[in-house]
Amino acid sequence: MTEQLHLVDDDLLRFEATVERTLDDRVVFDRTAFYPTGGGQPHDTGTLRVVDGDETAGDSWRVVDVAKSDTVYHTLAGDAPVPATGTRVVGEVDAERRRNHSRYHTAQHLLSALLLEEFDARTTGNQLHHDHAHLDAAYERFDDDDLARIERRLNEFVTDGRPVTSYTMDRAEAEATLDTDRTRIDLLPDSITELRIVEVGGDPRHPDEPYDRTACAGTHVDDTAEIGEIVVTGRETKGADEERVRFALADHLDERADTNA
Ligand SMILES: [Zn+2]
Repeated sequence: MTEQLHLVDDDLLRFEATVERTLDDRVVFDRTAFYPTGGGQPHDTGTLRVVDGDETAGDSWRVVDVAKSDTVYHTLAGDAPVPATGTRVVGEVDAERRRNHSRYHTAQHLLSALLLEEFDARTTGNQLHHDHAHLDAAYERFDDDDLARIERRLNEFVTDGRPVTSYTMDRAEAEATLDTDRTRIDLLPDSITELRIVEVGGDPRHPDEPYDRTACAGTHVDDTAEIGEIVVTGRETKGADEERVRFALADHLDERADTNA
């Protein structure tokens, strides 16, 4: 299994690795900082080149897809054949796309936590993109006042600038201590013996008690202030007891308005 460097350091955007295996246009490395699609977060993109290679000789590629099954597969695009097994390569993650995914993913944690805390609504699904996102929650119906309150509370957390941290925890300890409304440990395959825990810091007056603690393998910002202003853009029903809440970051709404103008 490829060592996934982003689980330990999600600020790492450049790494060296060795090609272990190739399959048509897909390549497996011994280690990677590229995030594979999963947990509602899209894959990273970026570039790959041979260490000390000559770019004009075709020793570079674009990383256009990253998927995880038995291990992590990087789909490459470029003029040259994919690098052979044993080749030393440098990977570079597209920083802006990753940063936006991390901002939306952290916003999703805030939204899930506050819906549980203030509406007793458990998150049932989520999907983020580089410029918008949605989250599904077990709730009958959010009205306009609810949505306004959700947006206001989200932005209070952003303004607060709460720290976001991660660490690994033994599965048995996680089963004993994690809130099962926040993390469905029972749904994880038995093969998973260690969980990555992500915490959003609590009230500054009670620094030892986090606001939210959940198991998540995604990428996040280090401080909620880095998310920037969040706008709840709408809702729709997903059935009798399920609601979908749509949200976007204010700078992305501005960009779209500019594009449409
Ligand atoms: Zn997450």
